[in-house]
Amino acid sequence: MTDKPEEARAFGFETRQLHAGQRPDPNTGARAVPVFQTTSYVFEDPESAAAYFNLQEYGNTYSRIMNPTVAVFEERVANLEGGSGAVAFSSGIAAQAGALFTLLEPGDHVVSSSALYGGTVNQFKHLFRKMNVELTWIDPDDPDAWRGVVRPNTKAFFAETIGNPAGNVLDIEAVAAIAHEHELPLIVDNTFATPYLCRPIEWGADIVIHSATKFIGGHGTSIGGVVVEAGTFNWSNGRFPVVADPSPAYHGLQFHETFGEYGYLMKLRAETLRDLGGTLAPLNAFLFLQGLETLSLRMDRHVENARAVAAFLESHELASNVTYPGLPGSPYRTLVEKYLPRGAGAVFSFDCAGGRVGGQDLISGVTLWSHLANVGDAKSLIIHPGSTTHRQLGDDELRAAGIAPGTVRLSVGTESVEDLIWDLEQGFAHVAARAAEKVTTA
Ligand SMILES: *Cc1c(COP(=O)(O)O)cnc(C)c1O
Repeated sequence: MTDKPEEARAFGFETRQLHAGQRPDPNTGARAVPVFQTTSYVFEDPESAAAYFNLQEYGNTYSRIMNPTVAVFEERVANLEGGSGAVAFSSGIAAQAGALFTLLEPGDHVVSSSALYGGTVNQFKHLFRKMNVELTWIDPDDPDAWRGVVRPNTKAFFAETIGNPAGNVLDIEAVAAIAHEHELPLIVDNTFATPYLCRPIEWGADIVIHSATKFIGGHGTSIGGVVVEAGTFNWSNGRFPVVADPSPAYHGLQFHETFGEYGYLMKLRAETLRDLGGTLAPLNAFLFLQGLETLSLRMDRHVENARAVAAFLESHELASNVTYPGLPGSPYRTLVEKYLPRGAGAVFSFDCAGGRVGGQDLISGVTLWSHLANVGDAKSLIIHPGSTTHRQLGDDELRAAGIAPGTVRLSVGTESVEDLIWDLEQGFAHVAARAAEKVTTA
């Protein structure tokens, strides 16, 4: 395959997840992507070294800024998402910070969905406040809510394809249209959907970010993130002098004018990544590439298992409020049919009978589901926010955060689904037995 196989033929997703962004190594013939475990690169001569440092030519200088193994990962994700390019980071959280810091200045304002991953809420609430960036939180289920809160200093809209923990599915096309009415970019965190289930750029998103830690890696081995740009946003519209004007941090370079569809990404790499230093390690990029090779196969299986587990829970007398958006009765059904036709992912929650104690007893009763704080592993994961991540909150505070005392979150893996259901049955049997014990001892 050539460097840009899509020029010769429009290859399918399953072909591109194996080949995009890579040629067998010309020096060794290595078929797998080599791990270029090097900090730096020998320059051919002083002139080419100078051209690289001036960004007049694109070449490797130092692995904080780019690395050939990381570059294959970046190109592959960009290709699968349908973007112009990508920049990888050491974590999903670093990718978000990088994506936003590149276009924000102190005093700017961001509009964000309130249904977000908890770590993102912390980052926006606390770190961004320190940078004097204002946030407005809105209900992601009401597209018109985005329109009413735009200010002269607003610089971006931010949301997740599938929100946490209620499984809200974003109406990407509607929200992108409102963002573009105001000449603003829509940034979508596509971690829970992956580019196999949904490609937000096809619906108008301008920037897509991922925590590669989750389904992209797929095996719970590595932390990483990536930012993809669509390449179509007009950064020279007057609202983004920070991207379009001569950069004082790069001897007056005008990133958008000089690099066009790569302008934002060049600034993200050559300034933000250079200066924040949240670089993805080559070995982690290699592990993410192993994950990407089987992404579609795993996601089909995750979805099939999630549907079966959600259906089982819906009919179980000790479970209620199953939030899987792929259930036929979900309020997001129409949005799922439009944006997630292959399935609504594999992460959702439900409420276990018996409140806080019930949720805890369920967790102690299962043996195959791993009790931990992560999602998107091939192995099935379970957590009870009331006794872990949200332990400090009282029942009323929990409810305000959209979590019931008995809420249990699942990330459904790729095991034999009968075993997953058998194990949940064990958990519910434990809940029932402990409740009966309490009645008899009372
Ligand atoms: C995990 C996660 C993040 C943060 O990514 P890290 O790799 O843990 O830094 C951001 N968004 C979503 C939706 C996530 O699940």
